[in-house]
Amino acid sequence: MAAALQRFGKKGDRVLDPFGASPRLAVEAASEDRAVLVAVNNPVARYVLEHTAKPFTIHDLQSALARLSTAPKDGGRLEPFLLDLYRTQCSRCEKWISADYFVWDKEEGEPVLKFYSCPHCSHTIEEPTNEEDLQRAHEYEKRGLQHAMALEQLAPQGSPDRQQAEEALAVYPGRAVYAIVTLLNKLEQLEAGEAGRALLLSALDQANSLWGHPVGRSRPLQLSASVRFRENNVWRALESAAGHWALPDPKVGLREWTDWQSLEPGIITVYPGPVRDLATELPMAQVQYILTVIPRPNQAFWTLSALWAAWLWGREVADPIRAALRRRRYDWAWHASALRSTLQTMKEAVGHKAQILGFIPDAEPGFVAAALSGFDAGEYRLTGRALRLEGQAILTWIREPSPERSVASSSISNSMSKSARAALEARGEPTRYALPHIAAFAALAEERLLAGVRPSETRSALGVVGEQLDELLSDRQLFVHLGRGMEPESGRYWLADDSRAAQSLADRVEDAVLTELRSVDGITAVEMDTHLCLQLPGVLTPDRGLVMAALRSYAQLDPEDKLWRLRSEDQPEARKADVEEMLTLLGSLGAQLGYEVSGTDWIEWRDDSQESSLSFRVDETAILGSAMRGHAHSSAEIEAIVIPGGRGALVAEKARRDPRIQSWLESGLHIIKYRHVRRLSEDTTLNRENLFERLALDPPGQEDPQLPLL
Ligand SMILES: [Zn+2]
Repeated sequence: MAAALQRFGKKGDRVLDPFGASPRLAVEAASEDRAVLVAVNNPVARYVLEHTAKPFTIHDLQSALARLSTAPKDGGRLEPFLLDLYRTQCSRCEKWISADYFVWDKEEGEPVLKFYSCPHCSHTIEEPTNEEDLQRAHEYEKRGLQHAMALEQLAPQGSPDRQQAEEALAVYPGRAVYAIVTLLNKLEQLEAGEAGRALLLSALDQANSLWGHPVGRSRPLQLSASVRFRENNVWRALESAAGHWALPDPKVGLREWTDWQSLEPGIITVYPGPVRDLATELPMAQVQYILTVIPRPNQAFWTLSALWAAWLWGREVADPIRAALRRRRYDWAWHASALRSTLQTMKEAVGHKAQILGFIPDAEPGFVAAALSGFDAGEYRLTGRALRLEGQAILTWIREPSPERSVASSSISNSMSKSARAALEARGEPTRYALPHIAAFAALAEERLLAGVRPSETRSALGVVGEQLDELLSDRQLFVHLGRGMEPESGRYWLADDSRAAQSLADRVEDAVLTELRSVDGITAVEMDTHLCLQLPGVLTPDRGLVMAALRSYAQLDPEDKLWRLRSEDQPEARKADVEEMLTLLGSLGAQLGYEVSGTDWIEWRDDSQESSLSFRVDETAILGSAMRGHAHSSAEIEAIVIPGGRGALVAEKARRDPRIQSWLESGLHIIKYRHVRRLSEDTTLNRENLFERLALDPPGQEDPQLPLL
């Protein structure tokens, strides 16, 4: 964020975040001396923001936990009482212990696995549940007093939201509801304070059935239990929450909204409501900078927020977001229009030519398209985009009224076709669907063509454009769809005519990493990444995985100063000597085997009587582009590229990303490592008969294969 803000206004600027979706964004902007105003309507998001800006100390959290632990409960203490809900027997020492979690099978409606680490015998295992475990789990299925209390807190008897509240509550296992209500009651009686509430909030997030097992990478978006879900031990969740809230103090100010004039640099001002209400309190046309993480539709988060707010702070606090309970539409077209109408409510307050810097941390194609469409219709023109195909996008806009016009379907098609091809040509390699998709939508947004699209009878405006794009991408005159799978989103896209394609991005990344490593004495991974993002901007922004593969191929991390340095064998002089050695060895090896040897930087072995020929290209890099093009026109029977062993993993990574490299390798282009040439030249059993077989040894990506002994 600090780096991004260097290109976005200056210190002291007033900056508005209308969506309040990311606490970190506000905190980092305030740290960069911006006067930050955030509208946060969701009480849960607001709470997290407040306690990210002014974090609890670990002492606050631990003492809250201690007070909860020792609170009296049924003649004993609360901690053992809650742990006992998850009682199970250790299968090794047979003592009674508390499981860390149970894994439920949604279909079977009961826990099938349990995980524990026995405090008596240290037995740590995930194993099948037994009859007693099932019985205990089912004891809490009956809807008792706790269930009624949990429901009453959100939507009392007779409330129009009653049924939706029941559905929301249903994502909690009965045992979790029992534990939660017990904790909520204690929290009210105790002086556990705000820190206790924070711990409970984390436990509420952990205790529902949305989290799958095994734990996947993505967060839940739908309000439905995973096919296999984890029933986490609520007390254990509470314990582990302490570490999550003990954040470093960012030393920024925090205050509640009074008026625009009172905003101050280094201070986050929180407006506890929706931006449409805030907008009525803002002076005319004063907002010049909008900095935000664009929220994504997330039914799970909004519904649970309403539930959590009601439980933790009472029904009234949950009221502003209660509508989330009833909302069922969360598709991209709905989202685009929600963004548009939010932007329109701010119309008066935002100045002409105001700028927006928007981050999308989980940028899937539909989401980016919805954002581009919503902002175009909301009267902002796209001015820049950077896209990482791993799933992040940064977009910039400027406030400019949309031209009033209807847009012909052919101009949409032409613009998309041109920009999708241009993006692939610039990238120089086959790429996943997200690239042509986002390049095409971004071009439409830049040309202000998106807002004018009309919905069809069966499709939203966004759907109409998406369908047009998929049709274009399936046009074999223009694009090639590589890889298996019929879905447009699977596989990779390439150009039917690639004559204007640039050098592949993977080769350019490698080249840039090597050049940078040779010009500095040590660099951090983040610095290298930043350097590459500056050199390869926009749709070229390389994936972190590729940057790291290139870095690891040439450099080593110094554990002392955490800097990556060029390996000694990759110093230019050392590599020059290697290349000369390889050329000499290949020359003498060819002669020894009775071939006629020619060439200086590209060694060729030829036997005219048998009409056989082999050619070797010696390289120190894995920049294969020109060798691959040469391969297509070569007449040699066997062709090989000779590279250092350290490049092996990088070649494998490139082949994984680029189906063309894969097929080149399959069509008889060999990759031979330096050490393999050295071994062959010392191999006294090598002859013309076994040569080809021996050459094929040691494929790229393999660490250290051995030559056969015989
Ligand atoms: Zn045990």
